[in-house]
Amino acid sequence: MADEKRKLLKQYFGYDDFREGQEVLIDSILSGRDTFGIMPTGAGKSLCFQIPALMSDGITLVISPLISLMKDQVGALNQAGIHAAYLNSSLTAGQYFKALEFAKEGRYPIIYIAPERLLTESFLDFAGHAKIAMVAVDEAHCVSQWGQDFRPSYLKITEFIERLPRRPIVSAFTASATKEVREDVIDILMLQNPVVVSTGFDRPNLYFEVQMPKNKYRALTDYLKKHAKESGIIYCLTRKQVEEVCGNLIKEGISATRYHAGLSDEERKRNQDDFIYDRAPVMVATNAFGMGIDKSNVRYVVHYNMPKNMESYYQEAGRAGRDGEPAECILYYGGQDVVMNQFFIENNQDNAELDEFTRRLVRERDHERLKKMTFYCFTNECLRDYMLRYFGEYGSNYCGNCGNCMTRFEETEITEIASALAGCVREAGQRYGMNVLIDTVHGADTAKVRQYHMDRNSYYGSLSKVPVYKLRQVIQYLLVENYLRLTNDGYMLVKLTEKAGALLEGKEKLVMKMAKEQEKREKTGYGKKKRPVTFREPGTEDVKLFDSLRSLRTEIAKEERVPPYLIFSDKSLIHMCLLKPKTKAEMLKVSGVGQYKYDKYGERFLEKIKLGTGEN
Ligand code: ADP
Ligand code: MG
Ligand code: ZN
Repeated sequence: MADEKRKLLKQYFGYDDFREGQEVLIDSILSGRDTFGIMPTGAGKSLCFQIPALMSDGITLVISPLISLMKDQVGALNQAGIHAAYLNSSLTAGQYFKALEFAKEGRYPIIYIAPERLLTESFLDFAGHAKIAMVAVDEAHCVSQWGQDFRPSYLKITEFIERLPRRPIVSAFTASATKEVREDVIDILMLQNPVVVSTGFDRPNLYFEVQMPKNKYRALTDYLKKHAKESGIIYCLTRKQVEEVCGNLIKEGISATRYHAGLSDEERKRNQDDFIYDRAPVMVATNAFGMGIDKSNVRYVVHYNMPKNMESYYQEAGRAGRDGEPAECILYYGGQDVVMNQFFIENNQDNAELDEFTRRLVRERDHERLKKMTFYCFTNECLRDYMLRYFGEYGSNYCGNCGNCMTRFEETEITEIASALAGCVREAGQRYGMNVLIDTVHGADTAKVRQYHMDRNSYYGSLSKVPVYKLRQVIQYLLVENYLRLTNDGYMLVKLTEKAGALLEGKEKLVMKMAKEQEKREKTGYGKKKRPVTFREPGTEDVKLFDSLRSLRTEIAKEERVPPYLIFSDKSLIHMCLLKPKTKAEMLKVSGVGQYKYDKYGERFLEKIKLGTGEN
């Protein structure tokens, strides 16, 4: 048994070792127990139900929420030489019944099915006569209303299982960590005495950093220039911003594409494919993009704006580096982001059906989460540690692979600025919002300043030398640290809190970690900064070889009409560059090269490597 699963891992998937959690989950399923796996995105949950599916006598049904997810995974299985099919609304009636026919003949050990289909007559008829060994529920958090992606159709799963002549093993998988969601999965799916395996949420290959660029767009183009050949996602908060950023990038000759809910289905699909097939390596999108994207070679995720909470951030940033290779998650913070998110929370229409009381609770919770997100941008501590603590885990204080650990912040005394701001708020009777206050201390001559007679406030112009973005950061800091607060009535007036007392009396010295000036940072920046331990600086030879292997991969992907990463992952290509295999046996040692893939592509890659290393 033990050998068998390892053999399958090597033969079909080309991997030598299981990752954390995988073996326990597989063993649990093989022993016949209901099983619940909670592992972060990219940890390798699919294998945990796919390998047992290959070892058991009977069919494994995999329930998955999205067509794109199914397509991708079934594509990957077929690439690895495993017969699998999907049944969902993307098939014509003819294709659907054909697939069902093949399924009846027992051609597929693994069938992916959309939850909406489970209770249809044709499918129930099939399932009632087939031997279903396991029902694997992928993205299981979709059963929970607490989760972000609740799908009512997931509630049909239990009924479906009950209607089967014999109860199969039920397994569930998710990356969603919160306690409420976990409990829901177990209760709603009615898992029987399940083995629950939860691995850590840390993704050590991801590098986290927060930047506060004065000019976000410039920072972005600089970044993209340094990462020209890599694929990445840029998340913006609004459709308008997506349009703007994407349009400008294209004007500068960068192959970018866009995705947001305002585009037609057709364009969304086309753009998504362009990204997945590496025709447009840069995707500029709102948070509508991503669920169901399994692209494993996303090398960076840049947040052009701060998202609304840590859950969203971790999920979106987590789309980088699914292949386990180093990848970067960069967040560009700007004071305006907070204001925009606050506006979204106040005007959120999603909860229209809730009663007033619940709605207020939800809103308060959302504000609270936004605050924690903002604090992430300002913390001096290790960013990874901050994140893990947020999700209820303990990290170490120092990870060595985040912007803060690499000391990109410097202590800045802000006592003078902070007390002037607080003084200005007090003198103005706590009646104005953030912008008016900033304009006042900065000495701006705006209509509002004149209208409210703020030009007569004794702090008017007192901080004229401090740049506005810095004033904004300080106000933000004072809000996060509870020296100031905003009213929740939609006007968002700045008020003083009790804590501000000592500050106003000049009895408190305030120090905040502020990002070093962007320009200064850039010079010491890329290349010289200490890189994570896992990062391998490739030699120019290797870079050339990698590029040529990559174009071969693109060529094959075109022939086969599948996304390049389904041929081989970036990780496999990098591994090839390192090992420079000369023989079949050596090639099979490369991570991700299994027997079946070797037979299909191995020799073409061997040939390229031979050319690339200049050997004859
Ligand atoms: P998840 O569903 O947990 O987000 P996936 O199952 O999609 O993750 O796997 C993510 C990537 O990790 C895939 O490219 C997969 O081939 C790879 N992977 C899975 N298991 C292993 C392993 N044991 N060794 C190396 N790579 C693995
Ligand atoms: Mg998955
Ligand atoms: Zn760190």
